Amino acid sequence: MGRLAPSAAEVARRIADQEISCEDRVASRLDRIPRMDKDVHAFLSVAKDEALEKAREIDKRVRRGEKVGRLAGITIAVKDNICVRGMPATCGSKILEGFRPPYDATVIERIKAQDGIIVGKTNMDEFAMGNTTQSGAYGPTRNPWNLERVPGGSSGGSAAAVAGGMVTLALGSDTGGSVRCPASFCSILGLKPTYGAVSRYGLIPYANSLEQVGPMARRVEDLSLLYEIISGHDPKDSTTSRRTAPHGRRPAGVKGLRIGVVKELFGEGTQKDVSRLVLDATGELEALGAVVGDARVGNLGYALAAYYIVAMAEASSNLSRYDGVRYGASVEKGNADWNEAFAATRTECFGAEVKRRIILGTFVLSAGYYEAYYLKAEKARDLIRREFERAFKKFDVLLGPTMPVLPPKIGEKVTPLEDYMIDVNTVPANLAGFPALSLPVGFAEGLPVGMQLMAPHFEEERLFTVAASYEVRA
Ligand code: GLN
Repeated sequence: MGRLAPSAAEVARRIADQEISCEDRVASRLDRIPRMDKDVHAFLSVAKDEALEKAREIDKRVRRGEKVGRLAGITIAVKDNICVRGMPATCGSKILEGFRPPYDATVIERIKAQDGIIVGKTNMDEFAMGNTTQSGAYGPTRNPWNLERVPGGSSGGSAAAVAGGMVTLALGSDTGGSVRCPASFCSILGLKPTYGAVSRYGLIPYANSLEQVGPMARRVEDLSLLYEIISGHDPKDSTTSRRTAPHGRRPAGVKGLRIGVVKELFGEGTQKDVSRLVLDATGELEALGAVVGDARVGNLGYALAAYYIVAMAEASSNLSRYDGVRYGASVEKGNADWNEAFAATRTECFGAEVKRRIILGTFVLSAGYYEAYYLKAEKARDLIRREFERAFKKFDVLLGPTMPVLPPKIGEKVTPLEDYMIDVNTVPANLAGFPALSLPVGFAEGLPVGMQLMAPHFEEERLFTVAASYEVRA
């Protein structure tokens, strides 16, 4: 799927050289969306006219002999929690219905500056809380490989749009795995960049200390191109680093690269087929010259609990801004006083999972519990980061399964705890801030399996090298 299609860079070149028209190219992509999406439901909104208009404008500039950007003619889907000027941004929630941000997120500005074509906004779990893309207010997204299965989440719409061939590239956000999980379940590539590598300006926040906007693609070259374009310091986001990612200084191949297989990432509950496919892929990397060994990362058992405490605490404070006055929906309550009006909007317009997290997050931050939960979680977080730093002294890249299981069935009943548990392998990279990438390594029972690669801060290039070597193996 997608392997034989030209790369994004090749398409942009053909458009610049007038070998193909940008309008034809974009129109042919847009034609696919209604056909595929009536079953998949990856998109919450499609901006067809704007996309075609932009394509025509690019053709005009080409004909005038002007230079066009590196994403000319490349269709891109954007998760509905990233602001695109004039397009809806619901975050999958009723509470933001009707909200159209009057500005572009920095990542969007950068994509537009390279002539990328934003074709629409994609479905997600409400406020990015979840891993199945079923919890949003606008119905579930289905996995294009098997419509009875979830696409993963919370960036499930973006992953399904890429996997279904509806767009070439997509943006998601990853707070605890939301780019990597759906990438894994939909057999595409997804990157959670180093914390501070990509601007969060214009990303509607869930848990600021954990999340990053990340690229999704069907091939490594396209993934790294989009990463290169969206990353870098942004004066509008003071958490972005001035350290520039070493683009272009990519190791030539995996020969001699030390790869550590993290035993703890194959823990209890990992399905046999998942372990087998990830270990097979590791064997292939070894055959290509990588030096593979067993890595131990201590204290990983605390990661999931620490993650959920920190994430919910930050969410409870972030979501207090939705009061029915400033943005989106508002429930009329006659002459009700302020508290009643506020409560009425939040009661009606937030879904069950969001409410659960606001309540738990408020609890862990309240006097008396703060030390017992929140502070302890922050300490565990620090410990985990140091354990990884120790492991990275011995290994250039660490790996394991992205998700411990195959994509669950849509509508399958699970408890919140069971649901949280499938994030066990993805949350450590968010707690520690490391970059992590999921790449497809095969299918079991007809369902995709992904492998997760992790590297030290700002070493995304290593991840691209490993993924690219695996992608082109004989
Ligand atoms: N599933 C995790 C959560 O619900 C991760 C979500 C995300 O990365 N946005 O918090």
